[in-house]
Amino acid sequence: MLEIYNEDQMRFWLKKFSYEKELEDLKKLCKETLFDKFPQRLNLIRCLWFKDLGETYGTCSVSKGFNEFRGCRVADISINIFHLLYTPDKITKYVLPHEYCHAIGFWEHDKEFKQAFKLLTGLVHPDYTDDFIAPRSVCKILLEEKASCQP
Ligand SMILES: [Zn+2]
Repeated sequence: MLEIYNEDQMRFWLKKFSYEKELEDLKKLCKETLFDKFPQRLNLIRCLWFKDLGETYGTCSVSKGFNEFRGCRVADISINIFHLLYTPDKITKYVLPHEYCHAIGFWEHDKEFKQAFKLLTGLVHPDYTDDFIAPRSVCKILLEEKASCQP
């Protein structure tokens, strides 16, 4: 089994199992969702990254101070490539807005966070139980199997 420890191996994996095009399309979809559908906040630049994040679906970090060059705070949102390829729907519907809620200042998964999520999406925030999305290793194996079955 091919394990992935760095970006080059990730690129190799995507090529080997022919997920390059699919990932590019999904990246575009995520960018459209994040930049076109979610309201722009003043003084906040949103950056979107795609990585192997292990068991984490997505992460968000916001710079504490103003970025010197841009005069803005910067929110970095990352999305797990394996979860995205395995279940793009759940990522765009739930994980992306979840991370965006963090970006705009709701850090705890409390009542206010869930209200913000509802306002943003019109959806009730799901429970992130262990089986909300299959574990990363399972997603990876199933994606590899799916690719091998295709002509
Ligand atoms: Zn969270």
